[in-house]
Amino acid sequence: MQRPYIVGNWKMNGSRAMLAEARAIDRAAARIAAVEVAIAPPFTLISALGEASTAIAVGAQDCHVAASGAHTGDISAPMLADAGASFVIVGHSERRADHGESDALVRAKAHAALEAGLGAIVCVGETLAEREAGRAEDVVAAQLGGSLPNGETFAALGERLPERLAVAYEPVWAIGTGKVATVADVTAMHAAIRAQLIAAYGEPGSELRILYGGSVNAGNAAALLSAHEVGGALVGGASLTAESFLAIVSAAVRDNE
Ligand code: PEP
Repeated sequence: MQRPYIVGNWKMNGSRAMLAEARAIDRAAARIAAVEVAIAPPFTLISALGEASTAIAVGAQDCHVAASGAHTGDISAPMLADAGASFVIVGHSERRADHGESDALVRAKAHAALEAGLGAIVCVGETLAEREAGRAEDVVAAQLGGSLPNGETFAALGERLPERLAVAYEPVWAIGTGKVATVADVTAMHAAIRAQLIAAYGEPGSELRILYGGSVNAGNAAALLSAHEVGGALVGGASLTAESFLAIVSAAVRDNE
């Protein structure tokens, strides 16, 4: 059984002044071995955050599918590894919505990350309209079917799959809105995702972590993190201060004891 994985997504927030928050998170994480703690800052802070941290992992929020080339403004997975990142979030709903990222592109990005030696967190989640239409599980299943690593990249990972790949279930309507999915809804969706992961990957599919994301905070983290098949949390707004993020990390410890 893997440790709970608590990942902060700073989105397009943060300047060097915020490294103080990261250092405080890092100091606390060093004393909380029961939880794997990570932060994905904007590209501009990856190097500095990596140098300021010893206990937390540092990741990116996106990568290009190619390793290098004429792609002005983009950053490749090998460049992220060179900057000190150890994982990449791919397919976040804000990327899917703002940049028109398709499932196929998300899969290609996951492949690029894994082939560069990085971990990948593949994000999926339904909109409110899709949930209200009773299509949430079908939408997420289709996203997973199109976005998950497969083929040679998957085969090359072998037994390392559960350490290198995670899935984040993030209902779009819960991200940054203060609306949180019910524990019952999260449990049902995570069970469906687990079944699909086992169908796709066999035994390793039963081990990789499925994170919940969407307005996780100090008040709701314990209930969400104790739900069946919830292996951690992807946290946006509440990851921006050490105080609010560490409260979530602590809730994961309690759940793990
Ligand atoms: C996210 O950005 O992945 C997220 C879940 O944001 P928030 O926690 O702010 O809803």
